[in-house]
Amino acid sequence: MEHHFDAIVIGSGLNSLVCAAVLAKAGKRVCLLERESTFGGCIKSDSQSLPGFIFDLMSTSHVQFITSPAYAELAEDLHAAGLEYCTNENPVGVITPTGRALVLNTDQAESARRIAAISTADAAVYQRMLGDFQDQADVVFGLLSTEPWSWSTAKILFRTLRARGVMGMIGLFATLLKPTRTVVETEIESEEMKALLAPGCLHCGMSPGAPLSNLMGNLVTLSLAQAADPLVKGGSENLVESFTTFLEARGATLKTHADVCEIESTGGTATGVRLANGDTFNAHHIVANVTPTQLYRRLLPSQDVPENVARETQAYRYGRSCLMMHLALKEKPAWVNDQMSDVALLHVTSGLESVLRAVSEAERGLLPAEPTVCIVQPCAVDTSRAPDGQWILWLQLLEMPTVIKGDSLGQIAVEEGEWTASVKEQVGNRILSYLEQVIPNLGEALIWKQVLSPTDLEGMNINLVGGDPYSGDCAINQQLFFRPLPSVKNHKTPLKNLYQIGASTHPGPGLSGMSGFMVANELCKS
Ligand SMILES: Cc1cc2nc3c(=O)[nH]c(=O)nc-3n(C[C@H](O)[C@H](O)[C@H](O)COP(=O)(O)OP(=O)(O)OC[C@H]3O[C@@H](n4cnc5c(N)ncnc54)[C@H](O)[C@@H]3O)c2cc1C
Repeated sequence: MEHHFDAIVIGSGLNSLVCAAVLAKAGKRVCLLERESTFGGCIKSDSQSLPGFIFDLMSTSHVQFITSPAYAELAEDLHAAGLEYCTNENPVGVITPTGRALVLNTDQAESARRIAAISTADAAVYQRMLGDFQDQADVVFGLLSTEPWSWSTAKILFRTLRARGVMGMIGLFATLLKPTRTVVETEIESEEMKALLAPGCLHCGMSPGAPLSNLMGNLVTLSLAQAADPLVKGGSENLVESFTTFLEARGATLKTHADVCEIESTGGTATGVRLANGDTFNAHHIVANVTPTQLYRRLLPSQDVPENVARETQAYRYGRSCLMMHLALKEKPAWVNDQMSDVALLHVTSGLESVLRAVSEAERGLLPAEPTVCIVQPCAVDTSRAPDGQWILWLQLLEMPTVIKGDSLGQIAVEEGEWTASVKEQVGNRILSYLEQVIPNLGEALIWKQVLSPTDLEGMNINLVGGDPYSGDCAINQQLFFRPLPSVKNHKTPLKNLYQIGASTHPGPGLSGMSGFMVANELCKS
């Protein structure tokens, strides 16, 4: 059979872009097919809604990408194609509704001083956390950047065993598996530090009570503290543009409005794809950036899906939903605590109890009484995002129910469990009132707002099933060897030459690009 392409990549999220770029760089003929009208998946900017303002509609913080091996491989090409990152010195912080605040600095000595001013005991714990993070880096980053079923993983585990001994290895894994809750309740003294650490794990799809949540939360908070919070100058979509510029220069074929509705195969080997409009493309390798639900229930005919894989797909769980808000202000927010004025990413939360409560409410189908609000202040990092003197706020709420059974406060009427325009408006207003406690001029300064409900997010990207921003629950039984499914190894599938990448696969969600990078490197060997 004559193949048009060496590889077809389905979808254009970061993992797809990385995969296509590494393949194209190695001289492979690549075709990238995206069903939406723009490339990028969860990377979308909007500069049309309000002239002079640029909003990142979904993801915005690129710390995972700039610290990944995928970026190390592609950085020079992407920057040559126009990519620029901006950072500032105050990447991460927290403020409670009563105005108590803590902000970490990229200078670790300065962070230690700021924590010590609140609690010397917490400053000592923070130093130990940084040391542990360093000590665990080999194992943790090693496992996250290699295929679980591989000699590299076996070598990492063996090296660790040899260096630490059996009891040392057990001790290490006991530490890695700790829930955030345990650390916050037993090791931290101050309200500020507790509030700083409690919500980090939400960004990895976890709850503070879940095993592994301390490690995953620290990956977010400490990575930000050490590597800063890089935002793409002029909007995240400029990263996508630098990828497409690079790919086009390498002769890749890129198509939007290209909804792949079937993966074709012969004798157990994938051979090509068919689009919803009837067009077909064939290639040696097909790489699908889709969820297991889509792969095994839509794209592959049932005779190509073994019974155990069909059963595991049925059991694949999606996580809590996400609601996004974008605000434009005619002036800077007048934070009740000045420390917040230039923090790149911060949480507004009362602390551990309120995070645990909001998670539990969302998981029981309730609109939370006091959701944790993650706020990014793009203008504190990249002045091109709003006209001089004006400001934007990127708000993310990660404790939202998929199907709404009720309102914890009994104030919002829930209509048949759905995220209707009225429900999302009322939730948005609740968030604004909550934030006025810490930004008293918010109501007066607000000139524009947009609320994106879980339903809106899924409408923008089919991989965000039920509005789950992470394309699958991230509990330990859906991580590592078990992601996407326990019976498929690494990024392989039951069909030869068909690979699955994306947030539903190892190493999970976030802007690391690593699943695309691993598969591209594998295909470059063939
Ligand atoms: C609101 C929100 C905010 C987030 N914020 C951050 C953040 O700040 N930092 C961070 O690190 N992470 C963040 N995340 C998580 C992160 O953005 C995602 O985990 C990551 O972008 C997923 O990338 P991906 O490569 O898996 O593909 P996706 O970005 O999910 O893209 C998949 C693409 O494939 C396309 N597609 C699917 N099926 C087909 C088909 N059959 N045919 C053609 N095309 C198809 C989809 O249309 C989509 O464009 C956020 C996520 C969300 C939703």
